[in-house]
Amino acid sequence: MSDEIAFVPTMGALHAGHLELIKRARELSPEVVVSIFVNPLQFENPDDLAKYPRDLPADTQKALAAGATKVWAPLYEEVYPREIEKIFAGPIGELFEGRHRVGHFDGMLTVVHRLFEVVKPTYAIFGEKDFQQLFIVKKWVIENNVPVQIISVPTVRDKDGLALSSRNVRLSEADRKIALVINRALSTGSREGMLSTLAAESNFQLDYAEVIDEQSFGLAVQDTKFKRGIVAGWINGVRLLDNMAMGSN
Ligand code: AMP
Repeated sequence: MSDEIAFVPTMGALHAGHLELIKRARELSPEVVVSIFVNPLQFENPDDLAKYPRDLPADTQKALAAGATKVWAPLYEEVYPREIEKIFAGPIGELFEGRHRVGHFDGMLTVVHRLFEVVKPTYAIFGEKDFQQLFIVKKWVIENNVPVQIISVPTVRDKDGLALSSRNVRLSEADRKIALVINRALSTGSREGMLSTLAAESNFQLDYAEVIDEQSFGLAVQDTKFKRGIVAGWINGVRLLDNMAMGSN
């Protein structure tokens, strides 16, 4: 039997996006570990942490049904038994998402490092939904020779185009309709298009809308080969995040 482990780190409140990661993990290895841990270190906003949806019994069932062989929901003390060894995300961790959520990517990398230490995976599966997170994890793994293969999975969306997110359960039906503005904005394929589309929706409060170079995560320039639109903002106290490839030159 293979002793390779495919690992899917999550914060729970599992939806079809997470389940796609678990299915991909199962294609890679017969051993699939799913962690469920709401990591306080990556929440700069205590209200967001307090309101984060939690449902361990339902999550466990969903993860097992999608192909997980182990669901691991550690206590804080299991993840951080000693003084926390902080991992810093570097300058890219301070851009875009990191500018609005100061310390978020350091907290994210710190927990990924600890989870990898315990699980010792061969593969770790991350979603494109959190594109900057994926970029930062890949970069950290390469630069530090972390012996894990990072595998990415495209964003899973509802039929109407809204990217699935654990935070969507906090949207009212009316807010959910408003949230479709994000997908419409990204589909315009340009920063100007995104900004004008988002500005037309007064219930959406923009954090940022930019077009980045997928290879460097800097702002795209005219001859950037792989461009990606990234958007984050608020609807009625709920923060939403999305991104979309914007073609290549
Ligand atoms: P979270 O539980 O939000 O921390 O997410 C755990 C993993 O699921 C991360 O790698 C996310 O990028 C991924 N993920 C979240 N939403 C989606 C989605 N709609 N499609 C694909 N992957 C997702």
